[in-house]
Amino acid sequence: MALAVTAYGNKVLRKVCDDITAEYDGLQVLIDNMWETMYEASGVGLAAPQVNKTIRLFVVDTAQVYEGMNEEDREDLFEEEEGVKEVFINAQITGESEEFWAEQEGCLSLPDINGEVERPWSIEIEYYDRDFKKQVKTFSGYNARVIQHEYDHTEGVLYIDHVSGISKRLMKNKLAKIAEGKVAPKYRMRFAK
Ligand SMILES: [Zn+2]
Repeated sequence: MALAVTAYGNKVLRKVCDDITAEYDGLQVLIDNMWETMYEASGVGLAAPQVNKTIRLFVVDTAQVYEGMNEEDREDLFEEEEGVKEVFINAQITGESEEFWAEQEGCLSLPDINGEVERPWSIEIEYYDRDFKKQVKTFSGYNARVIQHEYDHTEGVLYIDHVSGISKRLMKNKLAKIAEGKVAPKYRMRFAK
């Protein structure tokens, strides 16, 4: 079942989320619902606060992007990697590259706006998958960008916190509209007002 996406302005998007255990009530159903919500909204990632839950859980599917890309873009954005489809539980980023890169980002909680964000090119991350199996992996390029964006959500951070002051000022009116519920994306949203 697709869930409503929490819009910018809801306090839940600013909460530092809590770790969960494998016994978390309804976890598998929640994960399935998050996938459905993400695909219905044409997203590449979705974090639990975006469906109104303050837990350290997010899903990422960059495989769909990779599939639709030509060879040249794949080399630029994925280098040696392929797209990933993965559930991240209780994730902790444990390492970052010194190399950074800037790229436009958007967010399902902030419809109709984009902003340029600088992020480390690669990260090391520890997490549990949906079977609660511990994973330690390194991701780079586009994969690392999407994972960092979703990871930020579990820390109460939004990508707009990383954009430059001037871009943020340009976004101000649009952000106010979202917070007031004056946007109409194609997917269902939960507005603060
Ligand atoms: Zn987001």
